[in-house]
Amino acid sequence: MINEEIKQKILEMFYNGKGALEISRKLGVSRRGAQKIVREEREKIKNGDAKNPVKKPEKTPPKLPERCPKCGRKVILPCIACNTKRKLQKNIGEELPVATIDLNPENRAIYEQIKKSHDVQQSPI
Ligand SMILES: [Zn+2]
Repeated sequence: MINEEIKQKILEMFYNGKGALEISRKLGVSRRGAQKIVREEREKIKNGDAKNPVKKPEKTPPKLPERCPKCGRKVILPCIACNTKRKLQKNIGEELPVATIDLNPENRAIYEQIKKSHDVQQSPI
């Protein structure tokens, strides 16, 4: 027995150009069951009373960058930097994983040199 949810999935795949065999394999339903629903839908299309169940996603205009009211960065809201900061602050007290890189002496020397020349300051996030 094919329930309503499965039926909707079958119809969705059907309207996406899939055949009954592929549908039955993907959804794990019997080929007969899938064929039956596809056939019924084809009949409905012929009679002009099929309702295409595939909903086209509504087009939303692309988001434009705005000034974040908290940090002043021009970002697509919500501000990821501020969200991350808030999440990290919430985690204070909990141990956060720390990434480390083991440099060989040669690369470490280069790193130290660059670090020195840039006067890298660790800014708290
Ligand atoms: Zn922000």
